[in-house]
Amino acid sequence: QAKERGKNTYRFYTHELTQRVYERLTMENSLRKALKNNELILHYQPQVDMSENKIIGVEALVRWNNPDMGMVPPVKFIPIAEETGLIISIGEWIIDEACRQIVHWKSEGVEIGYIAVNISAKQLMHGNLEKTIPLILDKYGCKPEWIELELTESILMEDPEYSKNILTLLSEKGFKLAIDDFGTGYSSLAYLKNLPIHKLKIDKSFVDNLPFAAADCEIVKSTIHLCKGLNLTIVAEGIEQKEQGEFLLREGCMIAQGYYYFKPMAADLVTQNFHISI
Ligand code: C2E
Ligand code: MG
Ligand code: MG
Ligand code: MG
Repeated sequence: QAKERGKNTYRFYTHELTQRVYERLTMENSLRKALKNNELILHYQPQVDMSENKIIGVEALVRWNNPDMGMVPPVKFIPIAEETGLIISIGEWIIDEACRQIVHWKSEGVEIGYIAVNISAKQLMHGNLEKTIPLILDKYGCKPEWIELELTESILMEDPEYSKNILTLLSEKGFKLAIDDFGTGYSSLAYLKNLPIHKLKIDKSFVDNLPFAAADCEIVKSTIHLCKGLNLTIVAEGIEQKEQGEFLLREGCMIAQGYYYFKPMAADLVTQNFHISI
């Protein structure tokens, strides 16, 4: 394709490619050192009960502060961590840090109900989670109910049988399971009756155009109805406007996560915000 456009384009293209391969290798090497050098940090985005105007839990979102590259967003390095297998040790660090933090919050009287942690595909398949997570919890005296595991539909569909086994084990141990980005994955709804799911997080893309886009309104209303019937908690992601929150609350979705309420922030800021009313 690039060749058709002439020799110069072709050269430019290979140069771009080399550049990208190089950047990636640099990233990979730096990422290997990131854990050891304490460059990873968790930010937390509150989940708010809109009917009571209070923070009920938070989602942990990892950040990478690299001295050369600056703040690298998770979408840039989680995929690399996945491909290289580094996600296993990074994922364990994330769970460790989340446990330490929630136990610390509880000890200072900041009664945050839970921390939700994102689990990636390779972590679910190869992370021995049913053993490693309880070991980490013991280290801090963290209760399983305080940790929620977020999984996307696509992750569950990679190996439904294995997912079912491990998620059943984790649920029996008391961990809560949430479906992230609900409605965007390529999957059937059958998992909702086969897996011990506690919560659905309706994806931001359905929330963006509320309350004006008729189709989105219907999808959201139906999802709320589905959750009521199946006894699942529902959370709406990506609320940026007052009207979106009002629509959701009116339709029976009480829990919201989005910039309108809070952006992801450092732990000490969560502590400060917890005590001021929303
Ligand atoms: P996610 O789990 O769906 O996380 C929600 C993302 O949406 C976060 O972006 C959050 O900052 C953003 N967000 C929340 N509310 C709003 C809003 O009102 N408006 C807009 N525009 N964005 C909003 P972030 O932190 O960049 O994370 C992106 C994705 O990276 C996450 O999507 C998750 O898939 C992945 N990720 C983040 N942290 C971790 C982690 O610790 N482990 C793993 N495995 N993946 C992670
Ligand atoms: Mg998430
Ligand atoms: Mg999400
Ligand atoms: Mg998302």
